[in-house]
Amino acid sequence: MKQTLKILVVDDNEVDRMAVRDALTKAGLQMELFEVSNGNDAFSALSTTAYDCVFFDYRLPDQHGLTFIQQLRSSKIKVPSVVLTAQGDEQIAVQLIKAGATDYLSKSKISPEMLVQVLRSAIRIYWAETQAALVNQQLRESHEQLIRKNQELERQQQQIQMQNFKLLEVSQLKSHFLATMSHELRTPMNAIIGFSQILFRSKFGQLTDQQADMVERILNNGKHLLMLVNEVLDFSKLEAGRLDLKAEIFDISKVINLAVGEMRSLADAKNLSLLVQTDLQNTLVFNDPVRIKQILINLLSNAIKFTESGEIWVEVKELPASRVTIVVQDTGIGIAPRDFKRIFEAFRQVDQTITRKYPGTGLGLAIIDSLVRMMGGKIFLDSKLESGSMFKIELPRQITLFTEAADAPAIQLDGDEIYSSAKNPHHSSSKTR
Ligand code: ADP
Repeated sequence: MKQTLKILVVDDNEVDRMAVRDALTKAGLQMELFEVSNGNDAFSALSTTAYDCVFFDYRLPDQHGLTFIQQLRSSKIKVPSVVLTAQGDEQIAVQLIKAGATDYLSKSKISPEMLVQVLRSAIRIYWAETQAALVNQQLRESHEQLIRKNQELERQQQQIQMQNFKLLEVSQLKSHFLATMSHELRTPMNAIIGFSQILFRSKFGQLTDQQADMVERILNNGKHLLMLVNEVLDFSKLEAGRLDLKAEIFDISKVINLAVGEMRSLADAKNLSLLVQTDLQNTLVFNDPVRIKQILINLLSNAIKFTESGEIWVEVKELPASRVTIVVQDTGIGIAPRDFKRIFEAFRQVDQTITRKYPGTGLGLAIIDSLVRMMGGKIFLDSKLESGSMFKIELPRQITLFTEAADAPAIQLDGDEIYSSAKNPHHSSSKTR
């Protein structure tokens, strides 16, 4: 309790006021006591001065105690208030407390001890109530704030959903555009390739060396362009989940030799040895031969493209549990471990600059990844910069056909492990050479 208390006594009975005054004085309280005899004067005093407590008779000459307390509340005057009642007026006192009075004291019980006790407890109750009201107010405000934040979050979520929807639309549009464009480009490309092949065969008379050279260039560039267009078409089909495997029983070693045969001239042109080792007891597999050849051609064309000197090995081996593995290894520029995962993403190349040394769409490995996943296989990559790379593909001897959208990431990096899988991703670690 603070040093000097400001106390107001409201009672029209001089004797009763004196009783309160005497008791408080006897109690030895350090206080400033003010006295008024009616409700109006009390209201004016409380409006202008901050009191620590007000004692008031509920039967005032100008108004009932209930009216007085209601007036205090409605004018937002905050002060601990103690009702002075006559004996047997407890019910009225309860009513007044309900209306906002802090406590009550029967006039018959006025004594220094009693007054001090009631005064102290009224001030304590009043402050406790004020604190509780403050905390309540703060809680209400933070609750309102939370509601506002929630509303804001909901709004942002809706915005993100809208943006996602728009992005999806744009992505679908892009896939559709890629598919249509590459499909449309194939027809004129096939005409260019077909007619330059006819010209090259000299069916329409002998070509000069220069003409033959030009026709050969048209033919080779046409084939290259067709390969790029096919890559884009395959990728857009895979993205849309519209590429189906056409599985049949075939001799995998024949397909491997066919692919290697097609790539040999490119390896020869760079003076690279291209070695093939097939070690299979049973060379028959159930898979899509066109796609197996495509995977191998892609891996070989990368191996040749990224190797300046040395060798390229292709190895086909039996694995336990009716699986086969195809390994393509080179002595090329190698890949840094930080790029292992990235290079399997569409359009990703280690060198993304316009002035890059090695041409390509950046789709080859993304296509291989999707195809291997559809076949229920896994890809392992092991590479060291300036030493070379090894791409190992493990496939079931007999694939299970199912159509699945190629949207979930197939290649995952876990520590130094990299793998590709179909329905059930398996883990396997990469070897070191
Ligand atoms: P592209 O060959 O058309 O660029 P790919 O998807 O086939 O696209 O390969 C992605 C990238 O992975 C290449 O650009 C290259 O950076 C890297 N890469 C793939 N194969 C090899 C390899 N054998 N040696 C070194 N880097 C490779």
